[in-house]
Amino acid sequence: MNTMMIIHLLLTISISLCTGANQVKKDLGTVIGIDLGTTYSCVAVFKNCHVEIIENDQGNRITPSYVAFTPDGVRLIGDAAKNLLTSNPENTIFHVKRIIGRKFNDSSVQQDIKHFPFSVIGDKGKPIVKVNIGYGEKLFTPEEISAMILGKMRDIAEGYLGKKVTNAVVTVPAYFNDAQRQATKDAGTISGLNVIRIINEPTAAAIAYGLDKMKKWEGAKNILVFDLGGGTFDVSLLTFDNGVFEVLATNGDTHLGGEDFDQRVMEHFIKVVKTKKGIDMGKNIRAVEKLRREVEKAKRILSFEQQTRLEIESFVSTNEDFSEILTRAKFEELNIDLFRSTLIPVENVLEDAKLKKSDIADVLLVGGSTRIPKIRQILKEFFNGKEPSRGINPDEAVAYGAAIQGAILSGDECVDSDIVVIDVNPLTMGIEVKGGAMSNIIPRNSHIPIVENKPFTTAEDDQSVVTIRIFEGERPMTKDNHFLGEFDLTGIPFAPRGVPQIDVTFDIDVNGILNVTAEEKTKGNKKNIVINSKTNRLSTEQINRMIRVAEIFADEDKVVKERINAKNELES
Ligand code: AMP
Repeated sequence: MNTMMIIHLLLTISISLCTGANQVKKDLGTVIGIDLGTTYSCVAVFKNCHVEIIENDQGNRITPSYVAFTPDGVRLIGDAAKNLLTSNPENTIFHVKRIIGRKFNDSSVQQDIKHFPFSVIGDKGKPIVKVNIGYGEKLFTPEEISAMILGKMRDIAEGYLGKKVTNAVVTVPAYFNDAQRQATKDAGTISGLNVIRIINEPTAAAIAYGLDKMKKWEGAKNILVFDLGGGTFDVSLLTFDNGVFEVLATNGDTHLGGEDFDQRVMEHFIKVVKTKKGIDMGKNIRAVEKLRREVEKAKRILSFEQQTRLEIESFVSTNEDFSEILTRAKFEELNIDLFRSTLIPVENVLEDAKLKKSDIADVLLVGGSTRIPKIRQILKEFFNGKEPSRGINPDEAVAYGAAIQGAILSGDECVDSDIVVIDVNPLTMGIEVKGGAMSNIIPRNSHIPIVENKPFTTAEDDQSVVTIRIFEGERPMTKDNHFLGEFDLTGIPFAPRGVPQIDVTFDIDVNGILNVTAEEKTKGNKKNIVINSKTNRLSTEQINRMIRVAEIFADEDKVVKERINAKNELES
C-alpha cells in the first residue's frame, strides 16, 4: 500500500482553490496590479518604493468596467463607454464579471442576463455577448470584453510609466472557481498581458492594509474583509499565520452594492416628480439615466456632507428642470434595511469559521460603498466599537495589494524579501483505490504551489485500462467525499496485476489550479485533461461542513481506513 495502490482511473483535472502566491523572482521588469472589478477597475504600480494608483485619461483613479460600440463602429472603454449607457444601451457592455467563466445555463447567468440591456446568447454552452458594431452584428466572449478592459488598464499604466508593460497581477473574488480564474487569465492573454499571478481580492486588500504590521503579529490572527462595491458584496474571513493567508470562509450577496442604494434614491425622486409635477418619468430612459448619474454623484457627496442639491437642466423636456435637495438622513432612511442586511454575511462567515466577534484582529474595508458613514457605523457597532482599518482608499485597496504582490514577484529591492504570501488548498485531494478507499495525494492545508506524485498499479491480471476517480475531502471512503471527475487511461501493456506502474501527479499551480496527470511508466502513455466546470466545485461553506463532518466521524473512519489498508496491502 505504501508503494503502489490499486486504482481504477486517472486524469488531468483542473479545479479551483484558494489563490496562491509565493516568490519566484525573475527579471520581470515592471509588474502592474489590476483590480478587474464588476463595476470599476483600478490599476496600480509599485514605483520608487511606494504604490501609486494610476489615474486614467479623465483624471480618475478608477475606471468603469464598461465597453461600448457606437453606431459608426467606434469602440469606447471606461468612462466614455459608461456615458453611452443612456443613448446606446444595447451596445454598452458592463458587468461581464458576472458571467465570465460560467456556463450559459447557469441559473445566475440566466438571472443576470435578464437585467442586461445588451443581448447575451448561448454558444457551445458559453454565454456570448452580441453587439451591433455599426456595420453589423458581432459576437464577443466575456473573456474578450474583459480583455478590452484589461487592455485599457494596461494603456493607462503605460501612459503613466512611459514604457511598455507586459506583466500583471490580476485579482479575482475568493469564491471564483477554476473556470472563472482561468477565463480571467485568458482575458489577460487576449489583451496581450502576461498574467503572472491571479490573487484573491481579500488577500490583496489584506496585503495593502499592512503586511508589515501582520508580519509582526505573533501566532495566527483573523482578518475580516468587508467588500461592498457597486454591484456585489463579498465578506471573507482570512487567517494570517507566518506569512500565509488562508481563506476560512466567504459569504456575501452577489447583487448588493452602491447601485442598489442609487436605485432606492431614484425611486424616491421618481415619486417626488410625479407628486410635484404630475409627470411619470419612469419610462423615459434618458431622463432616468440622467437622474441616475446625479443620484450617484449626490450619494458620494453625502459621505462627507449632510446634504446636497441635485440639479438637472432640461430634465424631461427643454423647459423642465430638476432641482431637489437630498439629505444624508433621507439617504440613510431610504436604504437602512439594505445597510443592515450587510451584517448577515458577516455573521455567517463567523459562524462558518466557528469564530467570535472578539476573535477578529482586523476588519478591513474594501469597495467604494464602504465610504458610506452609516455602513461604517453599523459595522463598528457590530464589532463592539472596534474601528475598521482606515488609511487606504477602499476602492483602491485591492489594486494596491496587487501592485505590492507584483513588486514581490519582480524582486523589487524596496519590498521586504522575507515576505511570502501564500495560500493553502482547503481540502485533501486524492483518487479512489480498490474497495472505494480514498488515497490521499495532496493533504489539506498544503501551501501552494505544490506538486505531489504517487505510484499506483492494476488490480487485475492483463488489465489494459485503469479508471481514475478524483475526489476531495477528509473521509477515508470516497463515497463520503466530493467527486471531481473521472477518466480512463488506456493502453496499459498486458501484465500480471500489481506489475504495471502508473504514476499519478497532482500539481496545484500558484493560481490555485490543479492539474492531475497519469502516466503508465513502461510505454509512457500519458493522460491529461482540464476540467473547467463550476458544477463540480464546492463553496467554502460546503468545504467547512465537510471538514466538520470528517471531525465527527474521525474515530469510525480510522477503523475503516485501517481495514481497507490492510486488505489492499495483502492483495498487492
Ligand atoms: P467599487 O466597485 O469598489 O469601485 O465601488 C463602486 C461603488 O462605490 C459605486 O456604487 C460608487 O457609487 C460607490 N462609491 C464610491 N465612492 C463613494 C462615496 N464617497 N460614498 C458612497 N459611495 C461611493
